[in-house]
Amino acid sequence: MAETIQRHTIFQNSLMTALLDGIYDGELTIGEILSKGNFGLGTFDGLDGEMLIIDGVCHQLTSDGKARVAGLEQRTPFTVVTNFVPRIRVEAPRGMRRSELSSFIDSVEPSGNYFTAVKITGTFSHVSTRTVSKQFKPYPPMSQAVGDDAEHNFTDVSGIIGGFRTPAYAKGIGVPGCHVHFVNDDRTSGGHVLDYTVDDAVIELCPGTDMELHLPITAEFAGGNLAPEDLDDQIHHTEVKN
Ligand SMILES: [Zn+2]
Repeated sequence: MAETIQRHTIFQNSLMTALLDGIYDGELTIGEILSKGNFGLGTFDGLDGEMLIIDGVCHQLTSDGKARVAGLEQRTPFTVVTNFVPRIRVEAPRGMRRSELSSFIDSVEPSGNYFTAVKITGTFSHVSTRTVSKQFKPYPPMSQAVGDDAEHNFTDVSGIIGGFRTPAYAKGIGVPGCHVHFVNDDRTSGGHVLDYTVDDAVIELCPGTDMELHLPITAEFAGGNLAPEDLDDQIHHTEVKN
C-alpha cells in the first residue's frame, strides 16, 4: 500500500449539497483557490460556467461551449483542488467511455476507499459536455437551473479531461463516482463531461488521503437545507443526466 498510497491532501470549498440548494455565491476567490492546488474543478459565482484548473491555470468553460482564463478576483461557490502528483500513470484503453472510468481506476489503484484526482490527456474520438448557464437572483435550486444547460459535442478532439473520483461514503460533500470536466488543447472550448470515447490517451491518478473542507461563513450557507431527502435524485439529475 505505502508504495502507491501516500498522504496527499485535497482541498474542497463548500459542498455539493450547497450547490444543489441554490447557494451559488462563494467566499473564496480563484487566487485563493490556486493557493490550495494547481489542479481541480468547480464552478463560478452564479453558476457562470464550469471550472477546470490545469497546471495552475483556472479555465472558465462557459455555456456557449467556449473557454477562457478566469480572473484571480472571480469567486467560486464550489471547488475541489489539489496539487496533482501523478503517482499512477497508465495508457487509457482505446474506446473507453466515461461509464467505464470508475472500474478502470479500481483496476489500477490498490483501493477505492480514497479520493482520487484523475487526469486523462490525449485524443478523444468524441466528447460530449454540458455547461450550466449563469443564474440570476433569486437563485433557483440546481435541479431547476440545469434546465438552461447547453450541450456540446466534440469529435476527434485533443485535450484534457480532469476531475475527481469520490467514494460513495462522501455523497453530498462531493459528487459520488467520477466527476470530470474537459478543456481542449487550445484551451478554447470545453465543459462538464457527460460522455467521451478515448482514442489515444494517458490516464494519471493522484490518490488523496486527507481532505481539507472549507465551509463558507455566509448567511446563505448557514441557512441552507444541506440534507435534502431526495439527494440521490438531485445528484443524478444535475450531474449525471443519463
Ligand atoms: Zn461538473
